[in-house]
Amino acid sequence: MNAFESQLRLIRRLQVHSKLASLGLHKKILASFPNPLHKESVTNCHAKCKFGHKESSSWARRPEGRLVADRLYTLLTRMYSKAVIDRNLNEFELLEVYNVYKALYPKDEISPTRIYYFNPKIRSGDLIVKPHCSKCRKSFITHFQDQAKLCGSCKIVEKEASKAKKLASLNAPSEDNNPAEETLKTANS
Ligand SMILES: [Zn+2]
Repeated sequence: MNAFESQLRLIRRLQVHSKLASLGLHKKILASFPNPLHKESVTNCHAKCKFGHKESSSWARRPEGRLVADRLYTLLTRMYSKAVIDRNLNEFELLEVYNVYKALYPKDEISPTRIYYFNPKIRSGDLIVKPHCSKCRKSFITHFQDQAKLCGSCKIVEKEASKAKKLASLNAPSEDNNPAEETLKTANS
């Protein structure tokens, strides 16, 4: 790589850092990349950020969070390979995964910080890859405190179906005050 090319690469790297900072990527992650942005620039970029995600895995416990975790796992392993889980993403991959994720699922709550910590959380055992959902048979992610048997998507379907069932039973006319039945009773007496 000649001097011009390496200069271009550095500029591209700093552009990616600046974009990631504006998306709220933790300062300590940014600082771990080669040639990080100056601290002041990072703070300026962070000022525009709307995400305040922390280094945690508890977001993957709610059914909606589990769906995000399943989608993220599928995306990561399809864009790279299953071996991607064994390492941390570099800044270029991180921005690429974030952009593809948001293009596919624009309404999901996801941030580069959450994506970055996803692989280490699987390696540490906070998040577990289960080989088969007991309903759809796809592999899925569960939190170590939950040990779920259903993937996020099947869990949401199950939850919505049970809500609909409850609502239907509340709206159904009860036997006690069914007017047709009352009329029949009166006619027979
Ligand atoms: Zn499933």
